[in-house]
Amino acid sequence: MRSLRFLTFLTASFILFVAVGSSQPPAATQAPMPESDKPLAGAIIGSDAGHGGQSYSRSYTAGTRGVDSRMYESDLNLLCETELAKLLEEGGAKVIRTRTVDQRVSPEGSSNKQELHARLEIFEDANVHFFISVHHNAAPGAPTATGHTAIFKKDVKDDRIYKALAEDINNALLGVVPGPKRELIKGDYHLTRETDIPGTIVESGFMTNPEYDKLTQDPDYPRKEAEAIYKGALKYWKDNKAELIKLREELIAKRAANPVDPNTLAAIQLNPKYKGEVAAIVAAMDPDKKPDPAKIDAYIQNYKKAYVKSEADKFTVAGSFVNGKVVLNGEVANRQQHNDIINGLIAMGLNRISNNIKFPEAQKDKPAPTPEWKATPAP
Ligand SMILES: [Zn+2]
Repeated sequence: MRSLRFLTFLTASFILFVAVGSSQPPAATQAPMPESDKPLAGAIIGSDAGHGGQSYSRSYTAGTRGVDSRMYESDLNLLCETELAKLLEEGGAKVIRTRTVDQRVSPEGSSNKQELHARLEIFEDANVHFFISVHHNAAPGAPTATGHTAIFKKDVKDDRIYKALAEDINNALLGVVPGPKRELIKGDYHLTRETDIPGTIVESGFMTNPEYDKLTQDPDYPRKEAEAIYKGALKYWKDNKAELIKLREELIAKRAANPVDPNTLAAIQLNPKYKGEVAAIVAAMDPDKKPDPAKIDAYIQNYKKAYVKSEADKFTVAGSFVNGKVVLNGEVANRQQHNDIINGLIAMGLNRISNNIKFPEAQKDKPAPTPEWKATPAP
C-alpha cells in the first residue's frame, strides 16, 4: 500500500514532467491576494530538495533510505520540498528550486563536490535572500535515534543571521515532526561553507527510525512537515528583512566583482557548453524530438551509431521499457558512453531509469571521503 501510493506519486510527477511544454489552457484561479497582504512579498528564496537521482545515478548522490519503506531520501525530500515551494509561493515569495523531479542537478559523472555546488550556483545566479535545503537524517545501527535539527554556517565571525534561520525552522518543527528538538549543528558542510548567502540544511527526522519511516509514508505527512518549515522561514523573513535585503545587495556586488565563466558551472541548467553537448546527444538519440520511453532501444542504438566509433569499443547496451521504467542492461568499455546515455535520457525527461549498465572497475568513482551526515548521538 505504501509503495503503491509512492508509485502513484512518481507516475504523476513523470506525467507532469512530460506534459510541460504542451499547450495546456491555464487553470482557473481564484482572485489573487493583493501583493501587499502576502507576508513574503519581495523575498527571493532558494528551495532545495536534497540529493536526487539516487535510483539510477552511478555518480555521487548520497542520501539515505527508509529502513522499512526503502524509500529514497531524494524522493522524500522532493515530496516535502514540493509542498514547501507551494507554500512559499502562496506567501508571495519568488521561489528558486534546484530540481522538480527526481534527478541530479549536475551531469552524470560529476563529483560529489560538483553535485552539491550546482545547488549553490543556482541560488547565487538567482540572487536569493536565503535558502533552505530539505533533508532527512540517518543513524545507521541506531534505530531509536529520533528528532529534528538544522545545520548552519561554521567559521563566520558574526553568525547571527546564519544561525537564526536554522533556529527558527528547528523551533517550528517542534511538535510537528517527532521530537526531540535536537541541538542545532554548526557544521562544515559544502552548502553552508561555500556561499555567504544565509542557508540551512534541515534534517527533519530519521529515516532509519521505523516509526518515523512509517509516518513519512502517510500521504499527508510531507505537507505537515512543509508547513512547519514554512512557518520558520516566514518568521525569519519578518524578523530579519532589512538585514537580508542589505546582505543580498552586498553579496551581489561581491559576485559581480568576481564573475564566473558559465562554461565552468556544475549546474546542468546554467552551463551553455554542457547544454550544447547534451542537446547533440539528444538529437542523435531522438531525431523526431518526441521522447517516448517505449522507443528506448532505438535511442540507444542511435547513440551507438553516432558516438561509438571504434570497433574496439565494447558496447552492448540494450534498452527496454518495463512497468513504467526505462531498463538499461549491457556493458560499455568507456564510462563516458554510460554518462552520455543517462544525461541524454534526463534531458529528454525520462528520469525513471533502472540502470544496470556495467563499465570497467577502474572507471568507477572513488567513494566520497567522508559521509555527508554525521548523526548526533541519540539523546
Ligand atoms: Zn540528505
